[in-house]
Amino acid sequence: MKGSWLIRGGTVCLPDGMKKSEVLVENGRITAVGEKLPVSGAEEMDASGLLVMPGFVDIHTHGAVGVDMNGADREGLTKVSAFFASQGVTGFLPTLLTDSHEALLQYVRTIGAAAPNITEGAAVLGIHLEGPYLCAEYKGAMPEHLLQTPDISRFMQYQTASSGQIRRVTVSPEVEGVEQFIPQAVAAGVSVSIGHSGADYDTAWRCIRCGAASATHTFNAMKLLHQHFPAISGAVLESDVYAEAICDGIHLHPGTVRILLKAKGLERVIAVTDSIMAAGLGDGRFKLGVNDIVVKNGDAMLADGASRAGSTLTMCKAFANLRRFTDLPPYQISRLLSANPADLLGLGGRKGRILPGYDADLTVISDEGAVKATFVKGRRVFCAVQ
Ligand SMILES: [Zn+2]
Repeated sequence: MKGSWLIRGGTVCLPDGMKKSEVLVENGRITAVGEKLPVSGAEEMDASGLLVMPGFVDIHTHGAVGVDMNGADREGLTKVSAFFASQGVTGFLPTLLTDSHEALLQYVRTIGAAAPNITEGAAVLGIHLEGPYLCAEYKGAMPEHLLQTPDISRFMQYQTASSGQIRRVTVSPEVEGVEQFIPQAVAAGVSVSIGHSGADYDTAWRCIRCGAASATHTFNAMKLLHQHFPAISGAVLESDVYAEAICDGIHLHPGTVRILLKAKGLERVIAVTDSIMAAGLGDGRFKLGVNDIVVKNGDAMLADGASRAGSTLTMCKAFANLRRFTDLPPYQISRLLSANPADLLGLGGRKGRILPGYDADLTVISDEGAVKATFVKGRRVFCAVQ
């Protein structure tokens, strides 16, 4: 049957362990996981010696392979989506850096219109607006003159322009009006993340109680925990919000990643790339939104050296890094890369796990993180040259 696949010989990453199994994919879904599945007519893929994992979901990426999400058109998104598939990603949120109101309206309109048509690589699962309701002090690579205070009616203009594709927004808790804005955004179906912030502990906790569900690049561009002033970092660690972690070994020391995992638990950490257009290209000069960026040894900085500016990480490298940083088996690391981000986006009932009935979003990968094949809704969108 066309479009059905039997992936055999691999070690399958199930929610509660690794198991030698076959995976049967039909009509875009996983229909069976087990041994000696009775199949006729499916295309077969030999995954001997490889891991079969849920496809990675990156909820924070500004681009790759020369494409900046700020201003990306359909062609650019298609290029990024194909590259991400080669890195094991099956779904992502194009993440927009703070820009002018008019520019953001235009960007979300373009991405919202293109998203349903991106079918040859990783799927666009919505849009993440990183700002513009951020504080100046922890702005990182955000252009200060474009930061705003929240206004739900202006925000809903973005949502309308994007055809309802905005899934996530990052705000600074201390910005005036953010506490009122959070429940309004949540009521509109948008997940709110806190970050780029010097907020004190109580202010951050109020935002969490108002409905904030995650923290953006935990510990980066964020006031750190002090024994007398636990600050936003303390509130993030203590609460049950999801905590993004940029696992490139540059943004967070491996020990910090382990501490975060110990404090939050495996079910509350989300690995993200925060990648910029330089991902997949190597060192050089690039753009990130309105900024000029210099990448040296894979480390992205604003051209004036004032701040780190995203990463060149990809999700399969994050998987390999997490293998090195921790003693955890792949099925536990998989939570950070697939199940947790899917759960945060409200997609956990059909994405992020290998279970019968789930979307056939899969990546076949070596233990060292080399991607051999990627399937999105049962379609093989990437296959490494043998
Ligand atoms: Zn970012």
